[in-house]
Amino acid sequence: MTCQECGIYEKGICYYLKTKIDDINRANTCTYFIAIRFDGNEPFSPEEHLFFKEQELKSRKLKGPLDP
Ligand code: SF4
Repeated sequence: MTCQECGIYEKGICYYLKTKIDDINRANTCTYFIAIRFDGNEPFSPEEHLFFKEQELKSRKLKGPLDP
């Protein structure tokens, strides 16, 4: 898994960290990794992916910790 497979990544930039990604393997340890989602044929924007991920993390927090 690499940042290039993450919806929050675009053209070398991570929209969560707001920085250039030098090590695309950081996706392996990143809580914000989200697989790219499509709206029809078009992928959602990095901002939209970040929003999806924040919603997901928020709902996960409400449900309490998950088993590893
Ligand atoms: S959110 Fe995490 S996995 Fe996605 S591009 Fe940024 S650092 Fe990589």
